[in-house]
Amino acid sequence: MIVIIKSGTSPEMVKKIKEKLESKGVEVDITRGTNKTVLCVVGDTRMIDINSIKSFPEVDDVLKVMEPYKKANRLMHPENTIVDVNGRLIGGKKIAVIAGPCSVETEDQIVGIAESIIDSGAEFLRGGAFKPRTSPYSFQGLGATGLDLLSKAREKTGLPVVSELMSADMLEKFVEEVDIIQIGARNMQNFDLLKEVGRIKKPILLKRGQSATIEEWLMSAEYIMAGGNNDVILCERGIRTFETSTRNTLDLSAIPVIKKLSHLPVIVDPSHATGAWWMVESLSRAAIAVGADGLIIEVHNDPANALCDGAQSIKPENFNDLMKSLKYIALAVGREM
Ligand code: PEP
Ligand code: MN
Repeated sequence: MIVIIKSGTSPEMVKKIKEKLESKGVEVDITRGTNKTVLCVVGDTRMIDINSIKSFPEVDDVLKVMEPYKKANRLMHPENTIVDVNGRLIGGKKIAVIAGPCSVETEDQIVGIAESIIDSGAEFLRGGAFKPRTSPYSFQGLGATGLDLLSKAREKTGLPVVSELMSADMLEKFVEEVDIIQIGARNMQNFDLLKEVGRIKKPILLKRGQSATIEEWLMSAEYIMAGGNNDVILCERGIRTFETSTRNTLDLSAIPVIKKLSHLPVIVDPSHATGAWWMVESLSRAAIAVGADGLIIEVHNDPANALCDGAQSIKPENFNDLMKSLKYIALAVGREM
């Protein structure tokens, strides 16, 4: 349920209405926008007498939120959420670009790639340390050592780092060493893991599950937000369809749908969506054109010998060219790079 407060209402009066709602056992968040203040009411709202709330002269309207996701719903928070990662913003006017290898392999590799992407204008470094591989015989990542190498790359370049958490056992180390915790496609509905990352104060990059509907994806964001962590960044990374020419099918239509339904920032991963490096450039441009707030792109200095996902990784020089061309697309849709 949302309670829209008339503009000019005093903070004391807003507090009074909030307390009246809370006396019915629900949780109430206040969202102050530039034009209006909205009280977001979540929980069991059946005990609330809508007419008595409407009888406050300061209340403009009371609306039921029909969708099952509440905190992630744009109705609850009409303005875009901007996630602040150590002073770098995701969801604002500036397009955020995360780049780096699928997996951290060596110190030289991760530091070398970090230095090259920073020169091209990337603001965040990605690198997997715990890898969700389809085969148990494939490279599983360097584990904790990989996180330490990412920290070294951050020390040397200042780039905040993004890495995937697969198990709550490692949560403490991730909180210490990682700036954005990624929840991978395969764990999008690992509800225990979602609850754990909902309890912490750290931005979460929530990838869309391989066969998840947009509503299921938003419900996973809701799990994280229900725990008190509102810093959720959504990531469209392609979904399973009948098509076999690409690794997945990049659902670009999800971007305007998310923008309509939710206030959360949404970025696109063209690397896992296609599985082929030569499609990354055109789909990155398309993603920005359609309204994505950013990109996460796999970049490797030696894709032919990469330990994971070499076929979809672009080289630093291609990434540099791509970043230059993205500036024009960003400008055309009122964004900045
Ligand atoms: C990744 O980003 O390295 C990854 C495994 O992605 P996804 O969960 O989207 O497959
Ligand atoms: Mn990968």
